[in-house]
Amino acid sequence: MKRTYFTTIYFLIYLLFVKIIKISANLQCIDYLDPLNSRNKILVPCPHVRSNNKIEIRDCYKSKSDQNNMFDLMFNCDLDDEKMCNKAKSTFESVGRTLTSKLLLNTRIGLNATFRPLEGNLLGSAGPSRAIPFRDEDGKIRLYVQALAKQFQLQVHPEYSSVDILADFNSNFPFWFEGDPQIQPNQIGFEELVLHELMHGLGFLSGWNNDYIEEDSLFLTPNIDGIIFNVGDNIERNSELVFRGFLESAFDKYMVLISNKTLTTELTSNFDKFLDGQNTKFSSINEFKEKFKASPQFDIAKQMYNICIESNSIGFLLNTSNSKNEVVVLETGINPFQGGSSLSHVDEKLFDNSSEFLMTFEQTPGRTLKDAIAAGGGKNRKEEAIGPKILAILETLGHV
Ligand SMILES: [Zn+2]
Repeated sequence: MKRTYFTTIYFLIYLLFVKIIKISANLQCIDYLDPLNSRNKILVPCPHVRSNNKIEIRDCYKSKSDQNNMFDLMFNCDLDDEKMCNKAKSTFESVGRTLTSKLLLNTRIGLNATFRPLEGNLLGSAGPSRAIPFRDEDGKIRLYVQALAKQFQLQVHPEYSSVDILADFNSNFPFWFEGDPQIQPNQIGFEELVLHELMHGLGFLSGWNNDYIEEDSLFLTPNIDGIIFNVGDNIERNSELVFRGFLESAFDKYMVLISNKTLTTELTSNFDKFLDGQNTKFSSINEFKEKFKASPQFDIAKQMYNICIESNSIGFLLNTSNSKNEVVVLETGINPFQGGSSLSHVDEKLFDNSSEFLMTFEQTPGRTLKDAIAAGGGKNRKEEAIGPKILAILETLGHV
């Protein structure tokens, strides 16, 4: 789809709004070490620094390749098959161009992508390398993925990690690449998969989960600020915990209960009253868990779990000029709740055969990107893989 005049206007409005964002006094960021395992993360200091990079705005003086692809790809192929490596690399480049043509990114995004043999049936995954706390205009501190934070072009900002998005894909999986012979029923289209995963790296990601205090719990909370992580996927359970509050992701700011249009961020406000709020010390995470389970907030956490395993119960409230107050139904049909799949996608049943197919949590095997676009009513341009609602969600994430 050609970029329209209206899209440009939205983007200008977006730039005006994003300046409201404030740097949080909280100078700890979260670094994700492994895109295949979101629990593998560490807290890192990210002191304020003054931007010394020239602001990179798309302009006519840039080289054609820069203009067409705002992603700086660092590609690692751990495979003794040059042809296969090249196919994977070309896919990342193609996806970079597709995203660039739709999103009008103003700052380049560093993408570190690996293609290598992985064990099991894993397809692969991508996600942010760093989440950065920013204070929104409603006073709440939320975690912004670095690729989104950079688009705000703040002159003073928490220190950025050297790369914005990490990706790791399994070369053992029978992927289908553009230009290959007819797709087989067991094959997954690699281009659709990469495009989908990079959307998570750009911020299509809820912070509500059921594994911050214990694994596979039957209650949900946003990220708990103060928990110290080990390298690996273990939370440091015995060390002292200075609780600094519950941190939603930028995405969570726009989640609503469909039944009554209440923003879920209001539930987080109730969480924040836990033991009179921030900077409470606990001797261990187990002590935190016990006190939390005895608090009135625990009922809300259980209630949120039950809501998030019932179809059609949570939506994303769009906030762009032409989609104000429209709600996009998010994925809550998975029972038990599945972190990474529940909430961080659009509803599979509603959207799999629509123009919004890209952000459902399951990719249909034996279906090429072309087929999916055609099934959604598109005319076979790759940009049409990002449907209007998906695009509006990304635009809304910038409306701070
Ligand atoms: Zn996904």
